[in-house]
Amino acid sequence: MTQPRFARFAIALPLYRVFEYSLDSEDPAPVGTRYRLPFTSGTRTGVLLGASDASDFDPARIRQVVERIDEQAVLDGHMLELSRWMADYYLQPPGEVVFQCLPGYLRGARPHHSTRVKCWKLKLPDPGAIEGLRLRSPRQYEICIALQRHRRGLTALQLRQINPKWHPVVRALEARDMLFWEWVEGGIGHLPAVDLPELSAGQSALLAEMEPRLGSFAVHLIDGITGSGKTEIYLRLIRDRFAAGQQVIYLVPEIGLTNQLIERVRLRFGDCFAISHSGLTELQRYRAWDRFRRGEVGIMLGTRSSLFSQCDNLGLIIIDEEHDHSYRQEDGIRYHARDVAIKRAQMLDIPIVLGSATPSLESINNCARETYHRYRLDHRPTRFAPPRLELVDIRNSQVEFGCGTRVFARIERHLACAGQVLVYLNRRGYAPVVMCHECGWQALCRHCDMRLTLHQSAHSLLCHHCGFSQVVPESCPECCNGEVRHYGIGTEQLEQGLVQRYPDTPVLRIDRDVAGSRAALGERLRQLESGEPCILIGTQMIAKGHDYPAITLSVILDADQALFSSSYRASERLAQTLFQVSGRAGRGDRAGEAVVQTRFPEHPLMQALLRKSYRDIAQELLQERRSFGFPPYARVVMFRADAIELKEALEKLDEIRELLAVTRRFEELTCVGPMPALMTRRIGRYRAQLCLISQDYQVLRSVLSQSMPAIEQLASTSRTSWAIDVDAYDL
Ligand code: ADP
Ligand code: ZN
Ligand code: ZN
Repeated sequence: MTQPRFARFAIALPLYRVFEYSLDSEDPAPVGTRYRLPFTSGTRTGVLLGASDASDFDPARIRQVVERIDEQAVLDGHMLELSRWMADYYLQPPGEVVFQCLPGYLRGARPHHSTRVKCWKLKLPDPGAIEGLRLRSPRQYEICIALQRHRRGLTALQLRQINPKWHPVVRALEARDMLFWEWVEGGIGHLPAVDLPELSAGQSALLAEMEPRLGSFAVHLIDGITGSGKTEIYLRLIRDRFAAGQQVIYLVPEIGLTNQLIERVRLRFGDCFAISHSGLTELQRYRAWDRFRRGEVGIMLGTRSSLFSQCDNLGLIIIDEEHDHSYRQEDGIRYHARDVAIKRAQMLDIPIVLGSATPSLESINNCARETYHRYRLDHRPTRFAPPRLELVDIRNSQVEFGCGTRVFARIERHLACAGQVLVYLNRRGYAPVVMCHECGWQALCRHCDMRLTLHQSAHSLLCHHCGFSQVVPESCPECCNGEVRHYGIGTEQLEQGLVQRYPDTPVLRIDRDVAGSRAALGERLRQLESGEPCILIGTQMIAKGHDYPAITLSVILDADQALFSSSYRASERLAQTLFQVSGRAGRGDRAGEAVVQTRFPEHPLMQALLRKSYRDIAQELLQERRSFGFPPYARVVMFRADAIELKEALEKLDEIRELLAVTRRFEELTCVGPMPALMTRRIGRYRAQLCLISQDYQVLRSVLSQSMPAIEQLASTSRTSWAIDVDAYDL
């Protein structure tokens, strides 16, 4: 048989093709191996997709690879198959998708060498020698006993759990010639022995119903109110997979308060898990990826891109807060981690568990269509049900730094009863509007269609989209003599006001401006954990995922904006946020309260939030979506273009529209645009969009599969670039 000589490679370029090279050796590497490839005048990293002994191209013009980078493949066959599916479904350039599946650390040419770990083992399991240590050296005895139980040995991490000062003890035992160490490539670690809490009736019933269905692919949605014990269910499911020798991917949204969850997982699973999120360096994330891949840990706990963790025996994927927007990647390769995870589970024929107190309308609709199994948890295992929302009308109230008098009264009552108070305001900075009192000049970003936000502590005006900043002008730059004033309230100003008003109460602000500093964040979280009265102020970051039992009051300021948003998803998101934020209160042994401050108490959505459950509201919103023909009853594919000038962006989309319009069935779908995007100028570029909507997915697919070969030829340049967004989140 002839050896393969030609090979196809994925390269991270925004082009809809793979690249062919000839191999230098007779020895074919496995697919998923990285190579250094000649490319124009330099080199690029490519991932081997396949090899054959013939080529469609002129063999004389095919260049030879420079060198092989990896000994072993960095992507397994399943991952390559998943990336093919993603490229096809999301209509993304295949090379970029393949690189998306790799940890950032390996996207270039850095070498991949599995980190081995030292593992200590008992040399002679002579009971006499060990017994002799019992009285003479109890610390050495303790470690010997542990090693006797774990014949496969213990790593430094595991030894530290037995004794934080393990090192001198182990050295002494080595000196006694009772221990030795060797390099190991991993193996699932040891679970600590813990007493599991007794399950509530609801939790037991749920598990009993789910368990018989866990043998193969199925989507399970746990629709359980806030604090109903969903996390406890996930931890039980993980434990069972462990017992069966399988590994688990556990995805959580990108949030600031994951520390608590990490601690909870650590208590249950010791060091048998790896963590990956955007707060870690590329190297740390790569190490986590590698430990999971080698089977050294059984759980990958992480945010969106942790979905692309590989291992030999994945048994379950869990997606907590499945409705969360952070699962959708909005730049670069556009995909929804929940939807890709479902596909991955289907390919591997394993179960996937989604959980939320406020499931997405997509998932609720999928339950109604009976493609998902739905489970309800309607009670908290703790004493009190989640608080009902109350509206506080501030139309005729005196307002100070965004809070009306009734809100102050409520805060004071809870502080007096030693409760913790959470105040949600989804706007960081000091004030969102800065303008001239005389001529009406406004501080706008030079690069975006956005107002600049005043950040007082940084003495600057900052754009939240592109990071542009400038100093605060003393007088109006337009009319030169007007006074520059600020309007509206951000978290920074709210913090300042509350500190002044409640000088004896700690006021903790958590938003992106403080989350960058780990020390500051840790300090604030410790205060919350202490259970002492305090006021927690924050944005999205404090809205979800945490469980602090001393919080008894949730206050939601400024929910009104969402009532008048142009986004068709605004109502869904508002309902989710309000139920999530209110659900942070009353988790301990005191009942909680939740108030929403509004100027529009009669607005139908406000009234609905007041009187109805999330489930009922979701049903109504689904009815509305159906009657308007919006997702999930329709599918949306968005073409986006951005350019130095708006005209160029619109022209690019005109070209695309022409290519679409000549296809069969184009008439059957709705095509809107090209038109300027809602925020037309962003980071110095003008943006436009062209939207395809259809109730029938097959129509969309048919139009796209006919036109894509031509559309793919339209090159993106630095002047004008374009991208496709399948299942676009917003219109
Ligand atoms: P969710 O994930 O639904 O918000 P959690 O699993 O975080 O809920 O549970 C909320 C609180 O109830 C946590 O403090 C948790 O420790 C506690 N809890 C969960 N299940 C039980 C149980 N079966 N018995 C006692 N407490 C429980
Ligand atoms: Zn002015
Ligand atoms: Zn900007």
